Amino acid sequence: MTAVGSFDGVVAFVTGGAGGIGGAVATALAERGAKVAVADLNEEAAKAHADKIGGLAVGLDVGDADSVAAAVKTATDALGPIGVLVHTAGIVGGGGPLNGLPVEVFDTVSRVNFRGTFLITQAVANAMIAAGTKGAMVHISSAGAFSPTPGLGHYEATKAGMNALIRSAALELAEHGIRVNAVAPGPVDTPMTNFSAAPPEALAFWTERIPLGRIATPADLVPQILLLASADARHITGTILPVDGGQLLKG
Ligand code: NAD
Repeated sequence: MTAVGSFDGVVAFVTGGAGGIGGAVATALAERGAKVAVADLNEEAAKAHADKIGGLAVGLDVGDADSVAAAVKTATDALGPIGVLVHTAGIVGGGGPLNGLPVEVFDTVSRVNFRGTFLITQAVANAMIAAGTKGAMVHISSAGAFSPTPGLGHYEATKAGMNALIRSAALELAEHGIRVNAVAPGPVDTPMTNFSAAPPEALAFWTERIPLGRIATPADLVPQILLLASADARHITGTILPVDGGQLLKG
């Protein structure tokens, strides 16, 4: 691990690396000298982003154990042992009150967000242990894991489950010198949410809940993700850090 601002020669594996938050983190890591694997279900977008930042595109379905194992091996063979995992791959997959939510939506979102977090954490942890790397993992949780919004219960439950996995992994992996943390954003303007194209009433619903008064951009999250991935956070593990403009102060 290296200090904030420099990830010189560090191999960073970014899931969802073609997405809004993952893409911004992948770019920031590459700018700071990391060798970045841009791992994403959308292989075309991963290739486009990897080409742009000088990274390696890797196809990945984070909910599939074989795909996860293959992607970690591809990145390791091409770039070297993984030092940093930033796990941003995630979906909302639909919405609605739990009493009407199709079970298929629940299963799809659980598979990607919850099962996927287990699979990628396990695979990267074992790769780090095998290589003797004292690495860092940063997951993207959600403020919704702590404070519910009607219609998002299925998604928020996967993020609460993810938080439990992160805390257990942090405890279990500490003896290997591997740290596991997360940031928990409030609403962020990305392709997932498309707030920049949202009608004013939808924007107002969210901004009124945020004391700092605005929707985040991926750039608002990047410094905290880099911090947790870096040696400057060497004594921090098992933390779920809200980056939410104060939203959780309102419950
Ligand atoms: P995004 O849709 O822009 O990016 C998500 C990326 O994950 C996409 O590139 C997508 O192709 C990829 N992906 C989807 N399923 C995958 C799978 N099975 N395997 C591998 N890759 C897969 O979304 P984003 O807003 O950047 O979200 C990133 C993370 O941040 C997610 O975990 C999301 O839950 C979390 N988050 C987002 C917000 C928000 O408001 N945008 C708020 C809180 C938390």
